[in-house]
Amino acid sequence: MEKIQMTTPLVEMDGDEMTRILWKMIKDELLLPYIDLKTEYYDLGLAYRNETNDQVTIDSANATMKYGVAVKCATITPNAARMTEYDLKEMWKSPNGTIRAALDGTVFRAPIVVKGIEPCVRNWEKPITLARHAYGDVYKNTEIKVPGPGKAELVFTDEKGNETRELIHEFTGEGIIQGIHNTRKSISSFARACFNYALDTKQDLWFATKDTISKKYDHTFKDVFQEIYDAEYKEKFDAAGIEYFYTLIDDAVARVMKAKGGFIWACKNYDGDVMSDMVSSAFGSLAMMTSVLVSPSGVYEYEAAHGTVQRHYYKHLKGEETSTNSVATIFAWTGALRKRGELDDIPALMEFADKLEKATISTIESGRMTKDLALITSLKDVTVLNSENFIKEIRKTLEEM
Ligand code: NAP
Ligand code: MG
Repeated sequence: MEKIQMTTPLVEMDGDEMTRILWKMIKDELLLPYIDLKTEYYDLGLAYRNETNDQVTIDSANATMKYGVAVKCATITPNAARMTEYDLKEMWKSPNGTIRAALDGTVFRAPIVVKGIEPCVRNWEKPITLARHAYGDVYKNTEIKVPGPGKAELVFTDEKGNETRELIHEFTGEGIIQGIHNTRKSISSFARACFNYALDTKQDLWFATKDTISKKYDHTFKDVFQEIYDAEYKEKFDAAGIEYFYTLIDDAVARVMKAKGGFIWACKNYDGDVMSDMVSSAFGSLAMMTSVLVSPSGVYEYEAAHGTVQRHYYKHLKGEETSTNSVATIFAWTGALRKRGELDDIPALMEFADKLEKATISTIESGRMTKDLALITSLKDVTVLNSENFIKEIRKTLEEM
């Protein structure tokens, strides 16, 4: 059989620990035998980030903007313990943060649904994709602990020195105040990323804030979304047969619980932080979750939602057997390959991505899975496989297909 040819390279960002081990196994067993894989390789493993003073992360982000599609392995975000473990020159920033800042992106996360791993919410038949705005609000706040009586005001000084003042509160005793902000530019980017992703995946888009209470702040989010939708997306949504709708955040939460799934839920930064953990835990496991960073200019970076699975890596180093779930990392590759196929008009590449995903799902549905899934599945007669054999079983299924 001839290998599938690619025209544009994928930006490949290698990573750390157990996921780095899985990365190589996936390439060797599931990709290289079938695809003449064209990638521009960046080693984001912590050792090399340290060696290059993190320049490699910046280079990989620039390459992503140049080529349009990247696939990223999980990476270590250094803390004090890692400083000694890797003898680091500096506590380098989170690569995800660096890449997100460069791409000005929104993160979309969706569960990978398989029979035998049922969501806790019985009526969720299809995945719910969470789109989280990743800038501002409470994550970039300024706070004061008010020690006693006094007046708190909100002051804006424009470039000419003109002040606008609003009274926050006349304190008669101790209290607290908080200042938060967002920018029209960031909200617009967020909106466009959501609309583009909805069109891309042909799913309805829900957006919710608390605009009835926050008549300027949250209302601006609502207005920006609506203006951009009306001006740039309404016709495209109509043509695609999908819907955008806005509602109050409390109404959205209630509706999500009763919904069947199959839509994108766009959330402000804090709502997205909280709701994505709720949705992902209700669907089963972080290892069964896709994650993609989408920029408003149409650049895509695919990754797994989980970390480098450090505990398994240390077992692996001791020569002990591991049973680490590679599904999210496989789906990062298939997502990136499918997108590359779409952009370069290579149907064989898109078909391959579909097939590999089907093979992965059907392997699990046949009862062959890693330990994390075996613990939560409703299937009987399950075979628990080690990291390597799980990938080999997927290859067998793929060959049969
Ligand atoms: P983690 O890698 O997400 O793993 C936490 C625990 O979740 C594991 O010990 C394991 O539980 C379970 N788990 C996660 N993924 C699994 C998989 N694929 N298969 C089976 N079990 C899985 O988080 P961590 O170990 O706390 O963090 C390790 C490193 O990852 C940190 O340095 C952190 O900075 C980094 N991190 C990176 C990213 C990213 O690059 N996107 C995201 C988060 C964290 P059991 O041990 O009970 O089996
Ligand atoms: Mg959180």
